[in-house]
Amino acid sequence: MRSEARVDLGAIRDNVRTLAARATGGAAVMAVVKADGYGHGLVPSARAAVQGGAAWLGVAFLEEALAVRAAGIEVPMLAWLTAPGEDLTPAVAAGVDLGVYSLAELAAAQSAARAAGVTARVQLKADTGLSRGGAGPADWPDLCEAAAGAEADGSVTVTGVWSHYAFADGGADHPVNSRQTAVFREALEVVQRAGLHPEVRHIANSAATLTAPGTHFDLVRPGLAIYGLSPAPEIGTPDELGLRPAMTLASTVAHTKRVPAGSGVSYFHRYVTGRETSLALVPLGYADGIPRNATSTGQVQLGGARRTIAGTVCMDQFVLDVGDDDVRTGDEVLLFGPGDNGEPSAQDWADLLGTINYEIVTRLGSRVPRTYAGATA
Ligand SMILES: *Cc1c(COP(=O)(O)O)cnc(C)c1O
Repeated sequence: MRSEARVDLGAIRDNVRTLAARATGGAAVMAVVKADGYGHGLVPSARAAVQGGAAWLGVAFLEEALAVRAAGIEVPMLAWLTAPGEDLTPAVAAGVDLGVYSLAELAAAQSAARAAGVTARVQLKADTGLSRGGAGPADWPDLCEAAAGAEADGSVTVTGVWSHYAFADGGADHPVNSRQTAVFREALEVVQRAGLHPEVRHIANSAATLTAPGTHFDLVRPGLAIYGLSPAPEIGTPDELGLRPAMTLASTVAHTKRVPAGSGVSYFHRYVTGRETSLALVPLGYADGIPRNATSTGQVQLGGARRTIAGTVCMDQFVLDVGDDDVRTGDEVLLFGPGDNGEPSAQDWADLLGTINYEIVTRLGSRVPRTYAGATA
């Protein structure tokens, strides 16, 4: 093993159970497994989430949905982002619910339904204030009317109506989010007046699932939290939230050497040794998703101590100055994980680099093999 992302599927399963227990009023869980399961692996994460009680799965793109179906996972699933000209037919034929933002997208779903010879399942998206995808209040009544017409002609069934919060780190008490919830309720009244009876109405992301019971409607839609990470430090640590981080990113010391004082280390000599010391080479770089901004900043656990990256993070490797410590080739290097062995967390990396933990896990590259433990089936 050179490097690996160890994924604890038992943690994903248990995190989904925890989130399901937090969902109020009988709301079900749609586990979000987009972006390769936030870097943890699409199909294994989806299976673990279903084992933990996720009744639904959510993905961004059609090919993500089709990969889940190809693995034999048949739970209801929403794919929420398509572009004009994409072939919707395979997804419609596979019973994937399509997020529909506009009249044009509704028409595309109807065409795909005719091509597939089935009724397309669609979920209308209301833009309640994020100003990203979805129909805003001005366009919403027309979209609902058209969808009712499409239901009447048998081409589609409206299975859901949904929206998304702008303040992904906030709960219902954030003023923008609470306005969005009110706009969503108004959108739901329009849905009802149009004669639509969707099975599921949903708006709650991880933060709202954890902190805002009034937003749970029929379904909660957590992503980050199923992987055991907290959507925002203010909401709590994973431990405080009853979540367990599922990913440990590990590597191995590939090479060591003794160098004199004044040795410039890595590209541009951004680090220069202050005395005679030992250097250890770690075979992970920015092509693997280690941010280049972690140059002289990122921290790892090696040989029982936290160590800061010495100088520039390269494409495939970075260097550590381990002083006189007895560090050898083959020793394990932990970049982040749940913290059991003193390693930093994904949140620590995010804090140091001025980003969010979402980006730290999802950017992990395809050269890093994911290995799985804790699967029950
Ligand atoms: C990514 C995403 C989610 C999950 O958000 P988290 O903050 O990770 O819980 C839910 N819904 C939509 C539409 C998304 O794009």
